[in-house]
Amino acid sequence: MRPYLLLTPGPLTTSETVKEAMMSDWCTWDKDYNEGIVEVIRKQLVQLASSRPDDYTAVLMQGSGTFCVEAMLGSVVRPEDNLLVAANGAYGKRMGVIADYYGINHFVMKFEETQQVSPQMIDAYLTEHPEVTHVSVVHCETTTGVLNPLQAVAEVVKKHGKVLIVDAMSSFGGVPIDMAQLGIDFLISSANKCIQGVPGFGFIIARRSLLEQCKGVARSLSLDIYDQWKTMEEGHGKWRFTSPTHVVRAFMQALKELSAEGGIEARHARYCENHRTLVDGMRSIGFETLLKDEEQSPVITSFYYPNADFDFNDFYQKLKAKGFVIYPGKISQADTFRIGNIGDVYPADFVRLVEAIKEL
Ligand SMILES: *Cc1c(COP(=O)(O)O)cnc(C)c1O
Repeated sequence: MRPYLLLTPGPLTTSETVKEAMMSDWCTWDKDYNEGIVEVIRKQLVQLASSRPDDYTAVLMQGSGTFCVEAMLGSVVRPEDNLLVAANGAYGKRMGVIADYYGINHFVMKFEETQQVSPQMIDAYLTEHPEVTHVSVVHCETTTGVLNPLQAVAEVVKKHGKVLIVDAMSSFGGVPIDMAQLGIDFLISSANKCIQGVPGFGFIIARRSLLEQCKGVARSLSLDIYDQWKTMEEGHGKWRFTSPTHVVRAFMQALKELSAEGGIEARHARYCENHRTLVDGMRSIGFETLLKDEEQSPVITSFYYPNADFDFNDFYQKLKAKGFVIYPGKISQADTFRIGNIGDVYPADFVRLVEAIKEL
């Protein structure tokens, strides 16, 4: 079942038991599925995301993570609103591209890809531009692995009284986040990242009072978050259109395994140890990380090519033959490759990985 470990978030390496959970067929309209699986998932997601679960609600949406980011922006930001996007990588920039497609008034504040976004600069911009209504930021920029200073950004955005949207795609479930404490209004993530499910849907956790006001805002039928949510609320876990039933069932199993591991804190500790094992090992054989340790998330790590003659494709193929699939780099200003630390993978796997790289 496992020709190689996927160190590519995501999809990422999932457990046998998560894969096995997909071995039965469920009816997308049946109560067993709607109430017994979908509603359980929605409730657990809100509990994981917020210390005040009553103020929040979860909506699941078919498709990959980007579908959810698009659904969210297109269903929440109105034509008369103004969006500020803080971007220090491809995923931040993608929110700007979505805003372009929808004709949403927006400004993309660009930062270096190797640096965190600056709360001070966001503060200054919001002081100068009171017309801004929404601010969006990526928590962990998977482009490089930078972890943005969410707490400081949230403080600034809340001080100015703006709606805060967080793409926590690659961090939610693996890095502790309390939406209520931080004042986050909308958070987006997907099945195949730190919850360790298989790909096929994503979810938005929303401040209930704000989502309730979004009727009729969406410019897309299938990506209408409000309508999807309303149907799930009133139909007790009903989806509007065919849902990825097997994937949803596997996700419930993944949530169970997250809880069995000890919850988000425990998973975060494992990812940190994976990351530490990887970085210490790679440094010991001469590799350098792109980022400074203080800015680095435990989610994915970028390494410089070891020398000018380095052939990534050759390296990739040889490593794959040894049982590890990694990611190419995603930035233009340096030659890098990336290794993911999330999924059903453990420090011992990274010891083996470093050993395999050393042999190459
Ligand atoms: C994975 C990811 C996405 C969504 O990517 P998809 O390929 O659409 O699943 C968005 N933002 C971040 C930060 C991500 O890591």
